[in-house]
Amino acid sequence: MTKSMEEMTWQDIEPGGAISEPGNASCYHTGTWRSQRPNYSEEICIRCWRCCVMCPDAAISPDYEKNVFVWNYDYCKGCGICAYECPVDAIAMEEEGK
Ligand code: SF4
Ligand code: SF4
Repeated sequence: MTKSMEEMTWQDIEPGGAISEPGNASCYHTGTWRSQRPNYSEEICIRCWRCCVMCPDAAISPDYEKNVFVWNYDYCKGCGICAYECPVDAIAMEEEGK
């Protein structure tokens, strides 16, 4: 008997998928649905790179000239992982728009 969509689990779904426009992730600004914003303190930062490596959206990058990290708010969705991972609390999550 065929299961309805409501009865199906992920194991019932056929493997597969279609990517109609490869390489288009940069077109989608995930930062538009951010409700919290990471606030970075370069004075506290010990340059361990954890935030940069752990950000799922690659929204943090080093500025080698200034020896700081910079946030790309077009793609930072405010998940807070960078703040959670920072060992010295150099990143504080703040409500967006404050
Ligand atoms: S809040 Fe999330 S998406 Fe934004 S920079 Fe930190 S880890 Fe990346
Ligand atoms: S995790 Fe914290 S200390 Fe490490 S580089 Fe990022 S902001 Fe600096």
